[in-house]
Amino acid sequence: MTVSPSPRIAIVGAGMAGLACARELHRRGLAPQVLEKSRGLGGRMATRRTERGDRFDHGAQFVTARDPRFAAELQALAQAGAARPWAPRLPAGSEAPRRPWWIGTQGMRPLVGPLAEALEVRLQATVTGLSRHDGRWRLALDGGEYVDGLDAVAITAPAPQARVLLEGAGSPLAAALDAVETAPCWALMLAFGTPWALPFEAGRVEDGGPVAWLARQSSRFGGDDGIDRWVVHASPAWSREHLERTPEAVVPQLLSALASQLGTPPPPSIVAQAHRWRYAMTTRPLGQPFLADPAARLWVGGDWCLGARVENAFQSGVALAGSIADALGA
Ligand SMILES: Cc1cc2nc3c(=O)[nH]c(=O)nc-3n(C[C@H](O)[C@H](O)[C@H](O)COP(=O)(O)OP(=O)(O)OC[C@H]3O[C@@H](n4cnc5c(N)ncnc54)[C@H](O)[C@@H]3O)c2cc1C
Repeated sequence: MTVSPSPRIAIVGAGMAGLACARELHRRGLAPQVLEKSRGLGGRMATRRTERGDRFDHGAQFVTARDPRFAAELQALAQAGAARPWAPRLPAGSEAPRRPWWIGTQGMRPLVGPLAEALEVRLQATVTGLSRHDGRWRLALDGGEYVDGLDAVAITAPAPQARVLLEGAGSPLAAALDAVETAPCWALMLAFGTPWALPFEAGRVEDGGPVAWLARQSSRFGGDDGIDRWVVHASPAWSREHLERTPEAVVPQLLSALASQLGTPPPPSIVAQAHRWRYAMTTRPLGQPFLADPAARLWVGGDWCLGARVENAFQSGVALAGSIADALGA
């Protein structure tokens, strides 16, 4: 009896889309390998820990569920101790959220940890190119290494980065990504030795100024060590205007914008760091859960297919997995 070998599948990206896709393939008896360029899982669901030990959720702020499958996923994450509801004190006059907000118990990045259990994930592996060799895919990694002999590849990077890989591979899928638009976001991580006297813990600032969102980190991580930590997100317009500035230049500019916009200057900071999310939020999605070239065994997906939220990344990842498994007859 001959046993046909399990197809070799690579998923590019270990954000929610890539992990949801890989986990679903694993459930169907396949063994994908996930390749991730950064040092940790989660992509834009990010938690930064400073050398001093401060923790900041400086990417996605919370997760909401409309899709029953994603709601069930959140319940499973909550049961695993990875997720919990978050109900911070909002600015006066804010509308109550229509759906519960969920966050990771230890931060947004660890929220995806349970999805990756049992998966083969390779971190600090940046895919720099895709090419066909003997009817299979070869992925080039930075550092000159190759992953060869792949039967299927799914890319789950943000649309502009996915487009570069698709174009390099000569894939006709590349052009469709031009329809997708994204906006950047500068995030500021602040810690103060004295509390910042703001009458809320988190919320959107809807006055069209440079700052769009603030969140007190103790409302997420708990604990009271006398340090008041905040994450501040600049608006898409401000972020776009200051996109190519250095983090060092952005910190004082955004701090001064923050003071004049809120009318309550923050106390002197003991931590002030900026992070640029170049492709933070989808402003025009593709309008379908993924793109596929089944003959070439190439797929691409991510939040940008359906929207700007973690739930959209999950939906795209699960749909990708279904299409890949069907094409491979699994
Ligand atoms: C500032 C900010 C605030 C947000 N707020 C919210 C919110 O409150 N609620 C919400 O639901 N959503 C929010 N979002 C959006 C949410 O974070 C995303 O929708 C979701 O995390 C996207 O998941 P993804 O897997 O599609 O993409 P990503 O999380 O971007 O994952 C893609 C992964 O691919 C990797 N990658 C890229 N290129 C390569 C390569 N060449 N080789 C290997 N790996 C590669 C990246 O490192 C990354 O880990 C926010 C995003 C930002 C930035």
